[in-house]
Amino acid sequence: MTTKLEKPKLVLIGNGMAGVRTIEEVLKINPDLFDITIFGSEPHGNYNRIMLSPVLAGEKTIDEILLNDDEWYADNDIILHKGKTVTKIDRTRNQVIADDGSVAAYDRLLLATGSDPFMLPIPGANLPGVITFRDIHDVDQMLAASKKHRNAVVIGGGLLGLEAAKGLAIQGMQVTVIHLMDTLMERQLDNTAGQLLQKSLEDQKLTFLMGAETEAILGDDHVTGVRFKDGSEIPVDIVVMAVGIKPNKSLAEKAGIHCERGVVVSDTMQTYDPKIYAVGECVQHRQSTYGLVAPLFEQGKICANHLVGKGSLRYLGSLTSTKLKVTGIDLFSAGDFVGDDDTEDIIFRDPGRSIYKKLVLKGDRIQGGVMYGDTVDGSWYFQMMQDETDVSEFRDTLLFGKTHLGDSGYGSQSHAVDLEDSAEICGCNGVCKGDIVQAITASNLFTLEDVRSHTKASASCGSCTGLVEQILSSTVGGDYSSSPKKKSLCPCSDHTHDDIRRAILENELKSISAVLHFLKWRKTDGCAKCRPALNYYLLCAWPGDYEDDGQSRFINERVHANIQKDGTFSVIPRMWGGTTTPNELRAIANVADKYKIPSVKVTGGQRIDLLGVNKEDLPAVWSDLNQAGMVSGHAYGKALRTVKTCVGSEWCRFGVQDSTNLGIRLEKALWGSWTPHKFKVAVSGCPRNCAESTIKDFGVVAVDSGWELHVGGNGGIKVRATDFLCKVKTEDEVLEYAQAFIQLYREDAHYLERTAPWIERVGLYSIKEQLIDSDDIRKSYVTRFLLSQKYAQTDPWKEQVTKMEFSREYETLKPEKQLVS
Ligand SMILES: Cc1cc2nc3c(=O)[nH]c(=O)nc-3n(C[C@H](O)[C@H](O)[C@H](O)COP(=O)(O)OP(=O)(O)OC[C@H]3O[C@@H](n4cnc5c(N)ncnc54)[C@H](O)[C@@H]3O)c2cc1C
Ligand code: SF4
Repeated sequence: MTTKLEKPKLVLIGNGMAGVRTIEEVLKINPDLFDITIFGSEPHGNYNRIMLSPVLAGEKTIDEILLNDDEWYADNDIILHKGKTVTKIDRTRNQVIADDGSVAAYDRLLLATGSDPFMLPIPGANLPGVITFRDIHDVDQMLAASKKHRNAVVIGGGLLGLEAAKGLAIQGMQVTVIHLMDTLMERQLDNTAGQLLQKSLEDQKLTFLMGAETEAILGDDHVTGVRFKDGSEIPVDIVVMAVGIKPNKSLAEKAGIHCERGVVVSDTMQTYDPKIYAVGECVQHRQSTYGLVAPLFEQGKICANHLVGKGSLRYLGSLTSTKLKVTGIDLFSAGDFVGDDDTEDIIFRDPGRSIYKKLVLKGDRIQGGVMYGDTVDGSWYFQMMQDETDVSEFRDTLLFGKTHLGDSGYGSQSHAVDLEDSAEICGCNGVCKGDIVQAITASNLFTLEDVRSHTKASASCGSCTGLVEQILSSTVGGDYSSSPKKKSLCPCSDHTHDDIRRAILENELKSISAVLHFLKWRKTDGCAKCRPALNYYLLCAWPGDYEDDGQSRFINERVHANIQKDGTFSVIPRMWGGTTTPNELRAIANVADKYKIPSVKVTGGQRIDLLGVNKEDLPAVWSDLNQAGMVSGHAYGKALRTVKTCVGSEWCRFGVQDSTNLGIRLEKALWGSWTPHKFKVAVSGCPRNCAESTIKDFGVVAVDSGWELHVGGNGGIKVRATDFLCKVKTEDEVLEYAQAFIQLYREDAHYLERTAPWIERVGLYSIKEQLIDSDDIRKSYVTRFLLSQKYAQTDPWKEQVTKMEFSREYETLKPEKQLVS
């Protein structure tokens, strides 16, 4: 009988980013070498900690940032102890013991215990309401606090502090950032870049107290305020402590493993005990500790190489670069950006556009740099820094970026060419260069928009847009177009949707024939594809002042009902916010009886559908419904469809706001508007979200302190959850943002493009830039929407019934009039 050979045991302590990446590298090299056991204090699988900031800002959900689910551990035969903290390493018996008593023996042990947030040793630091920013639990606490409280203080104006502050502000809190120094992120930015950053964050409604030293956090059983060294105090409800991190070395120290600031490792990532390795933020290597993932992943690769016994690589330390993940802020910093007597600075400054770039050179080699406002070339400079490239040949145009190199004879290939396939390009969505190249070649992509919708790269904060463009250009060469590839609206002309819309506005074209003539359409009458699009673009550009062409609408819009597969129609009257009355129900029942309508059904959008109406009965059906006060539900149109609501605080014991009333107000404000495609809205009275607001084009979810607004959701074949837009306090604000959003969609999206693909094409940040960052722009959309509604809010049923010509459209052809084929 043969016995199965026992594999050596590898135990990992710390189920975080560096540790699990090392295990992945081990599995890549030799998936069968070890029996692997992992202990993690947190009750989750491995997740992308970097993305906690977008989760706090409501731009991502926890599910979206999970890197490895339970299935991954099972598929790789890994025993995972979730929610268990290792409390002892027994180096004599080669085993680890966890807080619940679990024991695991090891042949090789990997420590990846990360860091602990640093807490200022001041009175009150342990009070409830003082929160750190390190893990999912912290984010949950902050989100819960933002729903109950109004005033937050963030202590620390570094990367974490600013991302926390922005996230809390998006959640509706008044946030004050307290920073000891005079410059924000002083370890990454010089004074000029720091001032620019502060100014743009102030424009985004953050308040700063610079050079302020916190002396105590005040409160008895919860935080109530903060006192400073100069004796002044401010009242607050929560304090986020983001003053730095310290390597989590206590377990190793207790086990007698040599530690200084962190767990000391050699170039092979081994601790002073050769069976025990360490990676990540808990490590001190050649006197340095790291707090960014790129160097930790490098460590993981080298460590894996040694764990599997192929040890030839050495870790020699890393240069790091920093980006801030705050929507609308482009910031890049790397290396020594201050310089000394032996260095020279090259500086570019354009205050008008808030652009500032500084490179520090020693001889002809880049030592470091800082960039604000235009960071497209950040990774290129960083690569040259790492490669110690001699820049003397193109030093005079260096600051103008990579694209100017062709002129200086350096060659025109992009630095994206030099990046590894595994290089992460889009931090927000975790997209690597290889994924982008693969999508471009497999799906024949030519434009930035295409790449965005296929891979999501550059679709969130947008800071990697320049790099994505470079990859696109280096992959498809001459065919690349940085602006969308010219895809004509239809074969009748070469003009794109955007060209046509622009021409309509600039040249005051107000009828389809005027557009066809002006833009020299190849086919004089256009076709079934371009005519409905043109009709829509005209009505959007010139409300009340364009020539509507009914025949250019689809059949459903022409007859204001939905054609069914047997040739009959369905009629759905509007029911404001999904509410109705006994009178309306009686009228519907009477109509159903009178016109022998075979089926009456409640729709998913909370309306009543009369199915099987004969075409010739449509005007009479509408007339009867009109008399009972009902108007068309536009269930057939590229228009506002339904506003779905839950019962909300009026009836539901969980409800925190009156969602039904807001739904009615929204529907009354938005009905009648024609849009590029159908547009659905929902309002839920609490985060239980019974109205399914997060799969609607515009979804509203009530929270204690107001309303969360979500956009771009979609049910149907390709389900897409909404993106979080912002949080507002009042119903009036919800109306304002809804009107602005729908108008932006009306003016910007292509005809027949739903909000979901539109947002993926243009990027959420561009929508936020217009609707959130600028009150003036948002209000201008509202003004144009209200103007258009003046003409749109007429009941099409009533119009049709009273129009003389309706009889022809709805007439059934008599046998003698029918054409004989
Ligand atoms: C909000 C936020 C934003 C960030 N943004 C960026 C960014 O934009 N770019 C960037 O490069 N980096 C960023 N970082 C830093 C990056 O996330 C860390 O550098 C990285 O996660 C460190 O990996 P690690 O594995 O060393 O530690 P971690 O990911 O923290 O993992 C350590 C794990 O070990 C567990 N653990 C500790 N002790 C024990 C024990 N005794 N037993 C069992 N489990 C234990 C911990 O609970 C934790 O889950 C950010 C960090 C935060 C918090
Ligand atoms: S979303 Fe909330 S308020 Fe609305 S019905 Fe559901 S539980 Fe009640």
